[in-house]
Amino acid sequence: MDRMPFSKLTTRREMLRATGALAGGALLAKLFPGSLLAGAARPLAYPQQAGAAPADPLAAMRAQMGATPLETVRLSDNLTMLSGPGGNVVVLSGPDGKVVVDTFVQTVWAKLKQSLDGMGNAPIRWLIDTHWHFDHTDNNSNFRAAGAQILAHENTRKRLSEPHDLLGMHFAPSPASALPTQTFTATHRMQANGENLVLGYIPPAHTDTDIYIQYPRANVIHLGDTFFNGMYPFIDAGTGGTINGMIAAANRSLGMVDGSTKIVPGHGPLADRAALTRYRDVLVTVRDRVQKEKSAGKTVEEVVAAKPTAEFDAAWGMGFMQPDVFVTIVYNTL
Ligand SMILES: [Zn+2]
Repeated sequence: MDRMPFSKLTTRREMLRATGALAGGALLAKLFPGSLLAGAARPLAYPQQAGAAPADPLAAMRAQMGATPLETVRLSDNLTMLSGPGGNVVVLSGPDGKVVVDTFVQTVWAKLKQSLDGMGNAPIRWLIDTHWHFDHTDNNSNFRAAGAQILAHENTRKRLSEPHDLLGMHFAPSPASALPTQTFTATHRMQANGENLVLGYIPPAHTDTDIYIQYPRANVIHLGDTFFNGMYPFIDAGTGGTINGMIAAANRSLGMVDGSTKIVPGHGPLADRAALTRYRDVLVTVRDRVQKEKSAGKTVEEVVAAKPTAEFDAAWGMGFMQPDVFVTIVYNTL
């Protein structure tokens, strides 16, 4: 869809106003993956970790995400998915050097490096960022220091170079050492370790920086945060994300997979075509309901109060996005 006027973009203040009860740490607590919520909407517990000042929501988020166990899923003979402390990471390993997608948060760098070192002696050749968000790029500098080049969409470099305020967290412009060293605009291909990787730009969906990474030989695709498996997605309206863009991305992705494709979401467990289809269908149903009410002149408060997601909340509202916040974002990006 067309670029939204700035006045229509979702702001944290609008989200807070629409959801009433949410404030500060409670909002952050609602944003953590379901495994951290343990079924209760409780205030954010700040881990007693060096450098994690309780007054700094970004440090608290890093510490909390970093405390999530790192799990390993084998995707093929030389392709591995790591999940837990941030967005899902995929590692292609072999004699040409490791090609890694996304980075987890800073607080788990040592653990991530140890895990990568355990996948053979070849150097870390490339890091690919699926998009600009910190839970996917937070270790860019560490990857550079470890010898990797960083590949991303040109908008990721642009967004990382800007200051951002997102969900109560402040992001200063990234230092040069954390910026992509190579960027592309539409598609980029690379050969490594027997794979012919295809990287492709996804028109604005979760942000305006999203890409997919395809591994044709292994029949694996990483969709970044255009896909949250089994939970409502976060959509970053401040950097170009919209609900219609998310639906378009899901539909386009469905056209790129078959019944045996292993689909890596930005967050949530490894998925298949059926899971991606369910996700697309939930997004379409919620979008259609919210659009109908918005077109009839209802305010965002009225639409949130009508609970258009009620039938899905038990399953889809236990993850990253609290239902009222998700509905608010959908409304504000239509
Ligand atoms: Zn994201």
